[in-house]
Amino acid sequence: MKADLSYPAALERLNIYIAEHNKRHTPEREMVLMEISEMPQPFTAEQLAQRCLKLRLSQATVYNTLNLFVSARILHAFNREAGRTVTEYELMTGERSHMQIICSRCGRITEAHDKAIEHIVASRKYSNFVPGHYSLRIYGQCKVCRRKLKGER
Ligand SMILES: [Zn+2]
Repeated sequence: MKADLSYPAALERLNIYIAEHNKRHTPEREMVLMEISEMPQPFTAEQLAQRCLKLRLSQATVYNTLNLFVSARILHAFNREAGRTVTEYELMTGERSHMQIICSRCGRITEAHDKAIEHIVASRKYSNFVPGHYSLRIYGQCKVCRRKLKGER
């Protein structure tokens, strides 16, 4: 796998944001950023808070840092419906493209690999835009839910 450069790129963006907004440098933010860059993407605030327990960071610090990273455009936050609304976060400075197939009935998420799609995206050209990585979600119904649906009929 190609080396992931998301941490240095995100750290650079954090430093610019801190300078522009007259905020203080804190080691905690860099620790959280390092943790995020090592996590599978996307992730939830709960998953991050769980991983940050070993760093002895308070939940409030983790949540405040998440919000700051969204403001600094290091992370993209989006809502996913899975019975309840779940907010997920994803690094915008990431290098790794990924594709997920999501069951819209039970919310099950599976990482998927599709060489044909990777090839198509890599070959696309856009005017005034240089594409980086991508995140693709395909919604549908998993095998278990399809079987349940058939049984209900
Ligand atoms: Zn399902």
